[in-house]
Amino acid sequence: MKLPISISQLQSDLIDGKYSAVDLVDAYLLRITNFDKKINSFITLVQNRAYADAKRVDKIIRLKGENALKEYPLLGVVVGHKDLFLTQGIRTTAGAKVLDSYVPSYSATVVKRLENAGTILIGKLNCDAWAHGSSGENSDYGPTHNPWSKDHVAGGSSSGSSAAVASLFCTVSTGTDTCGSIRLPANFTGIVGFKPTYGSVSRYGAVAMASSLDSMGHFAKTVNDTRKVYQVTKDIDGFDATIVSSKNNTKKDKFTVGIPKEFTGEGIDPEVVNNLEQVFKTFESLGIKFKEVSLPSTKYGISAYYIIQPAEVSSNLGRYDGIRFGKDRSFFSQEAKRRIMLGTYVLSSGYYDAYYLQAMKVRSKIIHELETVFEEVDVLIAPVSPTSAFKLGEKVDDPLTMYLSDIYAATANLGGIPGIAIPSGFTKKGLPLGFQLMGPRFCENTLFNLGELYQENTHYHTTLPDLTKI
Ligand code: GLN
Repeated sequence: MKLPISISQLQSDLIDGKYSAVDLVDAYLLRITNFDKKINSFITLVQNRAYADAKRVDKIIRLKGENALKEYPLLGVVVGHKDLFLTQGIRTTAGAKVLDSYVPSYSATVVKRLENAGTILIGKLNCDAWAHGSSGENSDYGPTHNPWSKDHVAGGSSSGSSAAVASLFCTVSTGTDTCGSIRLPANFTGIVGFKPTYGSVSRYGAVAMASSLDSMGHFAKTVNDTRKVYQVTKDIDGFDATIVSSKNNTKKDKFTVGIPKEFTGEGIDPEVVNNLEQVFKTFESLGIKFKEVSLPSTKYGISAYYIIQPAEVSSNLGRYDGIRFGKDRSFFSQEAKRRIMLGTYVLSSGYYDAYYLQAMKVRSKIIHELETVFEEVDVLIAPVSPTSAFKLGEKVDDPLTMYLSDIYAATANLGGIPGIAIPSGFTKKGLPLGFQLMGPRFCENTLFNLGELYQENTHYHTTLPDLTKI
């Protein structure tokens, strides 16, 4: 059977009886068995659970037919969760050996909501330990390989989540984005990666990295699918005090898109720039207007992020003392230790004002600049990262270069705004390229509308990697 690439295709196939949900799970599991040895996207597979969920889906369809979709909007959708999301009764490692045998007693809000919407759970996905990383190479379970080229990284920290969707091992997957960990891997593997507004999707039950930046998002092949998943995951759950209900009703069909000039400066690969220019042309042919804008503090984004984030990491990782959760502290890997030390340093007396406070001032400035820019334009367009996927091992010994992969990601996280990465082509060597759209807080509908318009007029999301050849 031919695996579907969108939720609407999957659901109409199920309802038309082209295949059953059990057949669908058979097909996904066969693909995973054949190819995930090369990719390493799963940490834990849950075959029995997947079949149990699939049988339930088949039963619901038998009983209710098409009407079932009103009650279960994501009926039959096969989901993998980044192993940072707690799943009741299923091991959750956060990609770290510290939690190698940790089995949570409750599920994250995102997990629960996707279950209630009729999805099928297939497994838990690889990621950089504690979500610290941009390449997937910090996972204690081995790196994930890029499905387009085995020698390249899949991007991080949600490396398994992006590789699994790109490889058609599941229909959609969840991820977390603290500074690009959804958008970057989506960009490196040629799929859509969506980071919601901070405060729109509950963080309850996700292993915390840097709490003021962590955003709970997801991956799919189409923008329309990310919209559908967001409809289910967003809004107040009563467990995360930062969540507000979004009331976005964008009805506009004429947008002005801002191009922040600071995002296309030095150090960016010419192939990324050329591709972005093609994207502008496609949008222009569809009647979209562009305007150059300026976000002068962009250049301080990564520096501010690498003070605020380790500060919060050092506090959040304090709970892994070997008494309450998992193994003792000797199991922490190098990257986690580096961040705990950095964070403790910038928060200690004598340094707090010089580092932490200063970084928070930069953050306020970035937020203020974004507010000003969004008075001029509806959306921003930018590259996701300065290059396409890099080679495994290329940056592991140079943490500073690795950190710079997220230079275009930091703005959305520091500003709390939504962002979406969308595939838009390939390099000469056949590696995926993409772009990102960012908008004002709670304006995800505007991003979805524009992204859907782009995908209706292009075909990059329908091109699949050939896993037999990598
Ligand atoms: N790459 C960034 C880091 O290493 C961001 C990670 C993330 O978004 N979780 O901190």
